[in-house]
Amino acid sequence: MIPGARLILLGRQGAGKGTQCVRLSRQFVVPHISTGDMLRAAQREGSELGKMAKLVMDDGGLVGDEIMVGLIRERLGQSDAMGRGYILDGFPRTVPQAIALDEITTDLPIDVVIDVDVPREIVLNRLSARRVCRDCGTNYVSSGIERLPWICEVCGGDVVRRDDDTPEAIMHRLDLYDELTAPLIDFYQSTGRLCIIDGVASADEVSRRITAAVEEARQNRNR
Ligand code: AMP
Repeated sequence: MIPGARLILLGRQGAGKGTQCVRLSRQFVVPHISTGDMLRAAQREGSELGKMAKLVMDDGGLVGDEIMVGLIRERLGQSDAMGRGYILDGFPRTVPQAIALDEITTDLPIDVVIDVDVPREIVLNRLSARRVCRDCGTNYVSSGIERLPWICEVCGGDVVRRDDDTPEAIMHRLDLYDELTAPLIDFYQSTGRLCIIDGVASADEVSRRITAAVEEARQNRNR
């Protein structure tokens, strides 16, 4: 039987985390838990959380720690995550979230934290060209000459620019990453749980690097 996994992927927005998380989720047969996707689903449902999150997200800000920790606590308590594990994408994003996650996962700790490292200038270009299917979330790269409307190859939904991929919101998100999320690198490194992967490579190569890092972390743990 394929072993499950409990992984966190860190990295700037646009570092390719989403693509890698989908691959890892298939590889280890565990759910891909993206807090951004959860908040976008809440927006589509029109819930109070979704309405509040939209205001914050469109501006490129961060939703409050307490709300996010509550969402993750509930999600990680579900049977799929409790059983085989999960790939966490977009959480934690602040040190208080990481501390809360350690408390939530005391009994079933994270295997390894992978930081997909891509410099700010490179993600800036990637985010400006990023397009996404409104329905299934598949990512695309715009060349600027697509015929519109752009239809998703996977599900037939509309392919659009995310509301929070405006130049101002992108800069705001990258600033917040440096200020609030980058300290997580030290947080996890100081407890020996971090593996930094150079994310400037093809998606296949980055996948190979991540898989090797997960295997190594497992071997170290079993030693
Ligand atoms: P993402 O799809 O991961 O880029 O997330 C999109 C947006 O959702 C972020 O820019 C934040 O506004 C919000 N968000 C997602 N995850 C978190 C989190 N862990 N803490 C706070 N805000 C979050």
